[in-house]
Parts: sequence; structure tokens; C-alpha cells
Amino acid sequence: MARITSPICRKCRREGKKLFLKGERCFSAKCAFVRRSYAPGAHGASNRSRLTEYGTQLREKQKAKTTYGILEKQFLRYYNQMIRSKKAFTMLSLIERRLDNVIYRIGLAPSRRAARQMILHKKVLVNGKKMSISSYQVKVGDKVSLKNTESNKELITEIKNNQKRITPVSWLKFNIDDLSAEVTSMPKAEDIGEDINERLIVEYYSR
Ligand code: SF4
Repeated sequence: MARITSPICRKCRREGKKLFLKGERCFSAKCAFVRRSYAPGAHGASNRSRLTEYGTQLREKQKAKTTYGILEKQFLRYYNQMIRSKKAFTMLSLIERRLDNVIYRIGLAPSRRAARQMILHKKVLVNGKKMSISSYQVKVGDKVSLKNTESNKELITEIKNNQKRITPVSWLKFNIDDLSAEVTSMPKAEDIGEDINERLIVEYYSR
């Protein structure tokens, strides 16, 4: 599985905002963006150049890719999927349905990276079956739950004791008893909890 290997915190600094890619650390004083809230590189602190229209579109696309932890080829696939669906779905709603995003959204993992690791380690079930594909797109009626392992039991106790991590999501019905979630509808534009302007991304790809 291809993955992003470059330093993660530099990406927040490049985009000029916190993207919350590292879980708990993002909320602490150790956050690199809190300590150095300017672009990385030797001239990052002094660079005041204005972005062109193309640059703005490019940065928005890069920000979305980084937020969801997706590489270029796969990201372009979501754009093509949206075009094929005759824009019945928005690009971000397709990405929201990824299994790693669902695990993150309901609070079972502190970040999408951590969610991907849980999936890769076969700790996640979809409709009672092991699922090790992070990009799996959930459908209405799918039930996402955790496998009954010792480490998951510890995680379930930890999450239940610390319920602040659990966030209500309108298109997912969450069950606190077994920390499972059922997909009740497709995510709509207003359900995307990220500050991403999809119009700029579509403009970038349709140049
Ligand atoms: Fe971004 Fe989190 Fe790193 Fe802060 S700690 S720079 S929010 S990834």
C-alpha cells in the first residue's frame, strides 16, 4: 500500500493551518504549527508572495489530499468517479465514505492515519467480516465495528471512559455499547466537516 512518507507536520505548515493529522499531539503545545506557524523551508518565514488563480486551486487540492491522506493517483480517481456519476455525488462525499474516514469520524481512532493502521492490522469488521482495505467505500446499511480482540477490548474501555472523542455524525448511527456504526444515508455536502472548497479542486482538474 502506497503511503505518505514525508514529514507530516510540514504539510500543515505549508497549508497555513492545522490539519489535525497526528491525533492527540495536534491539541498539545508540541504541535509544530503552534510553534512555527509559517511555511517550511529556509524562506518560509519571509515569503509573502501572493498565489495565482492556479496556485489557489493547486493548494486547495493539496490540502484536501493531505487532510484525507490520499495520494494523487487515488485522488484523481475520486474526481473521475464523480464525473462518471454525472455529479450525483460530490467528490468529497465519495471520499467521506472511505472506511478509514468512517473510523476516524466516529472517534474510534484519533486520526485517519491511526484508522488506516487499525484497518491494516485487521481490527475492523464491515458487516461482521474482516476488512483490510482503507479505501473501501461504505454503503447505506453497512455496519462498521471492531473485532473482538484483547487490544480492541482495551480500546473500547478507553473510548467509553473518555467519551469526548466520540463525535455524532448525521449519516452514521453510532452504538455506544459495542462501538459500532451503521451507515444510514450517504454523506451530503453539509456533512463534510472539513474546511475544503471543492469547487476549486474541480476547477483544477477540469482545466
Ligand atoms: Fe498538524 Fe497535528 Fe503536526 Fe500540528 S501536530 S502540525 S496539527 S499534524
